[in-house]
Amino acid sequence: MSHISVFAIDTVQKAFYTSALTHREIVGILSSDKYDEALFFYADLARKTHNGNDVHLKGLLEFSNVCERNCFYCGLRRQNKILKRYALKPDEIIAFAQKAIAYGYKTIVLQSGENNIYKIDDLCGAITAIRDMGAHVTLSLGEKSREEYAAYKQAGANRYLLRIETTDPSLYKQLHPSMSHQNRFNCLTTLQELGYETGSGSLVGLPNQTLSSIADDILFFKESDFDMIGIGPFIPNENTPLGDERGGDFVLALKVMAIVRLLLPKINIPATTAMETLDKNGRIRALQCGANVVMPVVTEGEYRKLYRLYPGKICLDDAPRHCRGCITGKIMAIGRGVSATNGDSVRFGDRLAAQGG
Ligand code: SAM
Ligand code: SF4
Repeated sequence: MSHISVFAIDTVQKAFYTSALTHREIVGILSSDKYDEALFFYADLARKTHNGNDVHLKGLLEFSNVCERNCFYCGLRRQNKILKRYALKPDEIIAFAQKAIAYGYKTIVLQSGENNIYKIDDLCGAITAIRDMGAHVTLSLGEKSREEYAAYKQAGANRYLLRIETTDPSLYKQLHPSMSHQNRFNCLTTLQELGYETGSGSLVGLPNQTLSSIADDILFFKESDFDMIGIGPFIPNENTPLGDERGGDFVLALKVMAIVRLLLPKINIPATTAMETLDKNGRIRALQCGANVVMPVVTEGEYRKLYRLYPGKICLDDAPRHCRGCITGKIMAIGRGVSATNGDSVRFGDRLAAQGG
């Protein structure tokens, strides 16, 4: 950190020691590149100090691209009639998970469009089967009722990912027809109440999104004390109403992620696939700026291509075994290791210990 201003170092160093920044300071950091070097340095130091050098690899199983929602940015939206849809059967989900566990994954992330194709009992059966094979289960199925979330928890699910996408009420309304922002907040509270290790996150670079609104998102994550936060740059999909938009900027998304690391030093933060889509070394750069998780896709065959949220998704033609070897090599090349634990965040472990669990 040779030629950067003392003022920039002071602001970021203060955040490292106090895990706090004001709204004004966050907007300041996001608006100027003079903070970047110090920000990335201290975010990496916070990751290392609180979480160590190991990276959690979690296998992302995209088990259905059927979605009843119409989020303006997403290629899975119901009104995208061009996309061929699929829904793996419960025994296929279990079989793909079994293969992923054999490749070494200790967590399976079950993700899908928001749909009601599956009977709750069937998904519960898949969750229990995966737990019985020794892996932890993360769910990312969208907004469900408290009863449904509770059933999955009872069946053995450990974690749930539900991004708030944006905390800006008017922006949320523009982008999510017929969806309730309040319900999304309520779902996150319910998941925390039910004892899930709860993750949220946001999109960066949405049309009409301001730096002030991004700062609000970051402060919301801090206040809510989540266990995981995923930050993804928005990537325009030509088969959606936002197909002609500019899309998010890689460095801005990286900065948002780094600030989240400073404010929530003990949580899990993935180096997102969308980051690698914008920058061919994006996940490794993210791992060097605060991230400690990577979620390679473990879905096999044509399903990889059909889970098309946005264009340019990486590793579409690769087999899960290859992806695991490839990312492991890249992680080791930067002097980091692959975690042998089940992938709980340090934050969650501390909370369980405080509860005597
Ligand atoms: N349906 C569930 C939900 O919405 O929570 C889970 C699956 S959804 C495909 C997972 C995430 O993909 C969303 O939270 C959203 O942030 C992200 N996503 C969707 N479209 C995207 C795009 N065009 N660019 C970047 N990320 C996108
Ligand atoms: Fe469906 Fe999730 Fe995509 Fe929205 S973001 S359209 S809920 S898959």
